[in-house]
Amino acid sequence: MLNEIVQPLISWYRQNKRILPWRDQKNAYYTWVSEIMLQQTRVEAVKPYFLRFIGELPDVKALAECPEEKLMKLWEGLGYYNRVRNMKNAAQTVVSEYSGILPASYEELLALKGIGSYTAGAIASIAYDIPVPAVDGNVLRVFSRITEDRQDIMKQSVRRQVEEKLLEIMPKEAPGDFNQALMELGAVVCVPNGPARCTECPIAEFCRAYHHGTVDELPVKAPKKKRTIENRTVFVIQDGERTAIHKRPEEGLLAGLYELPNAEGHLSMDEALERVKEMALEPLYIEALPEAKHIFSHIEWRMTGYRIRVSSLEERKESSFIFTEKKQSEKQYAIPSAFRAYIKYMKEKSGK
Ligand code: SF4
Repeated sequence: MLNEIVQPLISWYRQNKRILPWRDQKNAYYTWVSEIMLQQTRVEAVKPYFLRFIGELPDVKALAECPEEKLMKLWEGLGYYNRVRNMKNAAQTVVSEYSGILPASYEELLALKGIGSYTAGAIASIAYDIPVPAVDGNVLRVFSRITEDRQDIMKQSVRRQVEEKLLEIMPKEAPGDFNQALMELGAVVCVPNGPARCTECPIAEFCRAYHHGTVDELPVKAPKKKRTIENRTVFVIQDGERTAIHKRPEEGLLAGLYELPNAEGHLSMDEALERVKEMALEPLYIEALPEAKHIFSHIEWRMTGYRIRVSSLEERKESSFIFTEKKQSEKQYAIPSAFRAYIKYMKEKSGK
């Protein structure tokens, strides 16, 4: 019975698919870049990033050779920077072992750094017409509703079951369209937030949850682990027009990116001034900035901030600081969006 969804889904997809820049042509590299970007980010937000990325790095070789700072800059704002580091690593393997062309093999794709079963399936089926499934969160949701399956979709074993069932019905002549149809249905009809649009669904007649009135109960997901809350204080330390930033450690959260200096905890104004003096700077003026929040996957930062005017940044002894004005920083240094609320206080060079 499940195989009855295949043709209606493919026809619906071909008539209704959204026009997206990575769908213009079959190109394994474009599919790869877009799928990695889409892992944590909405389609509309990804579009300009994708176009800029492939404009600067048009193929695997360009990605493999891209300097780290430039790569971080191209990814700035997308978050989860290890994704793009893994991409570069995989691109280097593709250059050395596959002459710069992503392999047309599900298993070989899967062996590349940062490519899991979903991404390998998407590249293999969309770019190379290989009949393998590509199961992401959208597909898991749609599938659990069609089959009225109440197993926890966060479990790897459930994902594997879905992959196996989809493999059985995978149309050999259009695996890419079938996979994309399932994803698209999950993105625009059988949506994650808000009510599913079952009256517009091309496979409603085959959907068990729809027939039994259980759509709102599915999918079943085990509750996520609670995020750890971390309080931080962010310093916008400035002389006339420049602001102090420094590089984060090469390991851990936001590794190797740049940041505004910051400290654990919510510091009072006096504590903040003390901290700045410990950096061998001479504070002249301090102003409290509004609070801000940033959510990472497992951690939530609750931030307070201070803008602190210092006498001269030249006299600093804190050698890890870089002093930059806003435009130069935008061009050169990737600062994660966690600091967005405070970056706006950086200054332009006077006269610009
Ligand atoms: S009928 Fe409704 S619940 Fe079933 S797949 Fe379609 S949109 Fe999803």
